[in-house]
Amino acid sequence: MIIITRYDITDEELDHIRERVEAAGLHTHLSRGERRTIIGCIGDEAKLQEVPLRSLPGVEQVLPVLKPYKLASKEFAANNTIVRVGANASIGSDVLTVIAGPCSVENRTMLHETAHAVQTAGATILRGGAFKPRSSPYSFQGLGKQGLELLAEVRAETGLPVVTEVLDTRDVDIVAEHADMMQVGARNMQNFALLAELGRVQRPVLLKRGLSATITELLMSAEYIMAHGNHQVVLCERGIRTYERATRNTLDVSAIPVLKRETHLPVIVDPSHAGGIADLVAPLSFAAVAAGADGLIIEVHPDPESALSDGDQSLNPAAFSTLMDRIGAFAAAAGRTFEVPAVAGGRGV
Ligand code: PEP
Ligand code: MN
Repeated sequence: MIIITRYDITDEELDHIRERVEAAGLHTHLSRGERRTIIGCIGDEAKLQEVPLRSLPGVEQVLPVLKPYKLASKEFAANNTIVRVGANASIGSDVLTVIAGPCSVENRTMLHETAHAVQTAGATILRGGAFKPRSSPYSFQGLGKQGLELLAEVRAETGLPVVTEVLDTRDVDIVAEHADMMQVGARNMQNFALLAELGRVQRPVLLKRGLSATITELLMSAEYIMAHGNHQVVLCERGIRTYERATRNTLDVSAIPVLKRETHLPVIVDPSHAGGIADLVAPLSFAAVAAGADGLIIEVHPDPESALSDGDQSLNPAAFSTLMDRIGAFAAAAGRTFEVPAVAGGRGV
């Protein structure tokens, strides 16, 4: 249930309402907007039956939230959430955010080269896997801790914040130490132990949709992280498994407007894992941005042919730069701006 307060509510009235709700055994969550403040109530609402909420001073409206997700639901927040990543990047404002980098951190040289290329083209966050979730135990599993150190080194050099996947609850602290944002991969979307652990660290989380997960299941996974205390969650549509084999997965474009309707959390799209083929990355990116995505995460490799993972879907720097030249028009059509920071090439709309 949510309590919408009067615009002129005093701090004392607000505290009193929260105390009454908490005294009944529920938790409250406060969301302050410019025009209204929302008190979200989580717990057994039957216990509030005897509390005369509607007549408490400062209360404007009391509304039920019928969705299974609460903290993640649009109703619970006065404004859309903007997630800050590192010192200078953010996701969820009216500026489109592009995250780019290799599927895996392979070595120092390629990571440096890729980081500089994507930064010049206008990406503001660097991606790169150190712990890789591979379908085969015989495939390259990532550099692990050494990969994290290389990411931190490149961040220090370029100023680009970094996002990298955390596969295991035992690695949460070390990944949080090195990265600005923690990625939960599609295969781990319902690893509830991992989600709970990420709820305890104060680092933004990039939560990817599971291969066969519904939109509601994705939102329930976000709810897990939030219920454990971390509200800095970005959702990522990365293609779902369908009967179609022409593409690696099927990009669920509909998920973007549905998620934007259902949640205040930012929504980004991964066209690389959705299409699985480099040629599809630009058109899928354009579709995602036109449909209202807050950002994109794109795999870029200096020499995709020699990539240790996901070479087929990785763009080379030139193709990425061309995509970035064109993305601004789609951002503008969707009512967003796309800015390339001064450090980069100076493109942008
Ligand atoms: C990745 O981002 O490299 C990755 C493994 O993605 P996903 O979890 O979406 O398959
Ligand atoms: Mn990949």
